Amino acid sequence: MHKNDIITIYGSNPSTMTKAILETIDFETLLPNKNASITLKPNLVVAVTADSGATTHPEIVIAIIEHLQKKGYSNISIVESAWVGDSTKEGFRVNGYDRISDRYSVPLIDVKDDEYVKKTVGKVTMEVSKTILETDFLINLPVLKGHCQTAMTCALKNMKGCISDRSKRLFHTLGLHTPIAALNAVRSADLVIVDSLNGDLDFEEGGNPVQTNRMFATRDSVLCDSYGAALLGFELRDVPYIGLAEELGVGTTDLKKANIIQLNEPSDEESARPSGRVTYLAKHTEPDSACSACYGNLIHALKRLDEVDRLSAVDIPICIGQGYKGVNDPSKVGVGICTRGLGKSLPGCPPKAIDMIAFLKKLKA
Ligand code: SF4
Repeated sequence: MHKNDIITIYGSNPSTMTKAILETIDFETLLPNKNASITLKPNLVVAVTADSGATTHPEIVIAIIEHLQKKGYSNISIVESAWVGDSTKEGFRVNGYDRISDRYSVPLIDVKDDEYVKKTVGKVTMEVSKTILETDFLINLPVLKGHCQTAMTCALKNMKGCISDRSKRLFHTLGLHTPIAALNAVRSADLVIVDSLNGDLDFEEGGNPVQTNRMFATRDSVLCDSYGAALLGFELRDVPYIGLAEELGVGTTDLKKANIIQLNEPSDEESARPSGRVTYLAKHTEPDSACSACYGNLIHALKRLDEVDRLSAVDIPICIGQGYKGVNDPSKVGVGICTRGLGKSLPGCPPKAIDMIAFLKKLKA
């Protein structure tokens, strides 16, 4: 797997999707030393299950452990800490990590109990988990989701679970962006496998999941977040820590140089069922057998427009889905290649939210 590869897969089975990604990566080439210490860093920011849109699906963790142990890697651990005020151990318990730990003999390490090493990058001094610093190979397993302060969270921000609670408080005092970039300059992931199955619309603690039925993997955390931002409809300037991390040499934001390896096609077998706050955005859509990844991107695009009071530009329902294949109706507007026969249509399968936003803004330009 090259540094600029982004492997994407669609579906609703996190276990088989993860295994397909790992087969494509050829892990043994990435890490030939079978005795190397491998750390899995999921997102358990709060003690809720993955259907909330906040935390990493545990099936992904299980699939990685099974794959790696089958290949002969035995020194694997799971490391995480919940946000300040929440219990990591409760997050482990609620998501079944205690059973995972027992079954596969993989230790669970709560960073809140870990030793820390002080690290300074620029003007930011932080206490970083000793376990994380000493690990040979770090696999970051973030959830791609919205965030009320930093617009979105994915690989770079998920590393915040690797520092002390005292440093987490300091990060918030410093406005998050500069310290998140600095932390990743100290230690960023060797491999990122993103849970983008149903990340939350706008809050890291979940509650309004948007079904997208997608996972992707990359070795570059900056490239990962640049791609994630585009999927959610954010410009890089909306998420300053991504560019700051690039300036510190963590990776590249240049998506033009990314090599997207798509393992399968999106499918409408699990069409999205909007719920919670997502429902008011769904009113602007006219789905017919829409693939979840496509529909989820449209929901995020509409949310971004709503944030800048541009939702009024969308004054007719946006058609989306495989049901529009072969439909020729000049009065309708749609997104995705399936709607190519409509009066106005955005190509792509699925189009990213960032492209949908540009298209929708032009409707009432
Ligand atoms: S363009 Fe059509 S086939 Fe492609 S993701 Fe969208 S709905 Fe699915």
